[in-house]
Amino acid sequence: MNERILISGASIAGLALAHWLARHGFRTTVVERAPALRTGGNGVDVRAQAVEVAERTGIMSRVRELATDIQGMKFVDSSDRAVARVGTQDPASVEIMRGDLVALLDQVTDTEYLFGDSIQRLEQDDDGVLVTFERAPSRRFHLVVGADGMHSTVRRLAFGAEERFVRFKDHYFAFADADASLGEDRWVTMFNTPGRMTGIYRSGNHAQAKAYFMFRSAPLEYDRHDVTEHKRLVSERFAEDRSWRTRELLDSALADPEFYFDALGQVRMGSWHNGRVALVGDAAWCASPASGAGAELALVGAYRLAGELAAANGDHRAALPRYQTVHRPLVDRRQQIGPNVRIMIPRTVGGRFVRDAFARLPLMNAMGGLDRRLQAKNATPLPDYCRPRRP
Ligand SMILES: Cc1cc2nc3c(=O)[nH]c(=O)nc-3n(C[C@H](O)[C@H](O)[C@H](O)COP(=O)(O)OP(=O)(O)OC[C@H]3O[C@@H](n4cnc5c(N)ncnc54)[C@H](O)[C@@H]3O)c2cc1C
Repeated sequence: MNERILISGASIAGLALAHWLARHGFRTTVVERAPALRTGGNGVDVRAQAVEVAERTGIMSRVRELATDIQGMKFVDSSDRAVARVGTQDPASVEIMRGDLVALLDQVTDTEYLFGDSIQRLEQDDDGVLVTFERAPSRRFHLVVGADGMHSTVRRLAFGAEERFVRFKDHYFAFADADASLGEDRWVTMFNTPGRMTGIYRSGNHAQAKAYFMFRSAPLEYDRHDVTEHKRLVSERFAEDRSWRTRELLDSALADPEFYFDALGQVRMGSWHNGRVALVGDAAWCASPASGAGAELALVGAYRLAGELAAANGDHRAALPRYQTVHRPLVDRRQQIGPNVRIMIPRTVGGRFVRDAFARLPLMNAMGGLDRRLQAKNATPLPDYCRPRRP
C-alpha cells in the first residue's frame, strides 16, 4: 500500500527518510532544488536518540571518525582575550559538519534523485498525488513528504502561506568560509557588540573554518535567493564594527559563494500531515539553529515517520497521526530555546558583562549536564519498527 513516495529536499531529514523507507520496502524519489547535494553549514549535533538512529542506520562509527572535536564556546573582548569559556562537550553527543552527515546518509541510501528541480503543484485524489515539477514531466506518487527546510515549498502548497507557520525570533544570521588562522583550534570564538555577534568556528578535523554573524533586527524585506543582497545586508550591519577580527572575518565570508543567510525562526504547526502529504524536519518544526537540535529532530523524526508507515503497512491514514503523536513531545521540548539567543547576543554592554560573569562560573556546564540527563530520562523509547507480515 502507498508504495511510491516522493520526498522534497535532499538534506538530513529527506535522506534519512529515504534511507528508512527503502529499508522498509518503499520506493522513493528525492527532488532537490540545488544541482547537487549541498555540502555547506557548520557542525550539527547527533545526540540523544539520534545516536541510536545513526547506529541503526549504520553510519555512527563514521560519524564518530568525522567528529569535529569542538571543546566549547569562548567569549572574547576586542583584544582577543578570552573573558569566559564554556565547555560544550557531551559524552552522549557527537558533533559533525552538516555536509559530512549529508554525504554519509547519501552513501547508505538507495533512492532515485531529481536534482535541480522543485515541486510546482500538488493535486491529491483518493489514490495518490499528481505532482507537477518545474522541469521534469508530471508524475503520480502515492504519498509526498516535504523535507525542504524552514521555507518549505511543500508546506506552502499543501498547508498554506509561510507567514502562518514561521515565527520570527528577532535575529538574522549568516555563516560562510573563514580564514582558519583567525580562530582557536577546536573552539567556537565569539565577540559581541550590543545586539550583534561575530564568531569563528574552527573544528579540529577540518582545515576550513566558518565565520558567523548574528544581529538583532526588526523583520527585513529582501530576496531570499539573492546572495549578493544577503552579503550587502550583513556588510551594512557590521560596517561600524572595526574591533576584534570582524573586518577580516567579514572579508573572507564575503568571498564565499556559498554565503548562507537566513532569519532566525521557528516553525509551529498544529498538524504535520494533510491527506497524502506530510512534513518532516525543519519544514515541520524548525526549532532554529539556537536550539542545536536540527539534526537530532530530523534523524529521529524521519526514523519514526518511515517506521510508522511500515508498521501501518503503508496506510497513511493510520501512520501519519501516529507519527505526529510519538514525535511531538521531543519537538516541543527542543523548541523551548529559552535564553539561548540572549546569551549569545546580549542587547547591551551591561548584559554582556552579566553573561560573561555567569559564563565564568561552572554553573552553565553543570546546568547543561543536568538538562541532558533529565531529557534522556524522559525520552519516549525508540521502537524497532517492522512491517506486519502478510496473512
Ligand atoms: C546549506 C545549509 C547549511 C546549513 N547550515 C547549518 C548550520 O551551520 N548549523 C545548523 O544548525 N543548521 C544548519 N542548516 C540547517 C540544518 O541542516 C537543519 O536545521 C536540520 O539539520 C534539519 O534539516 P532538514 O533536512 O529538515 O532541512 P535543511 O537542512 O534546511 O534542508 C532542506 C533541503 O531542501 C532543499 N530545498 C529547499 N527548497 C526546496 C524545493 N522547493 N524543492 C526541492 N528542494 C528544496 C534545500 O536545498 C535543502 O537541501 C543548514 C541547512 C542548509 C541547507
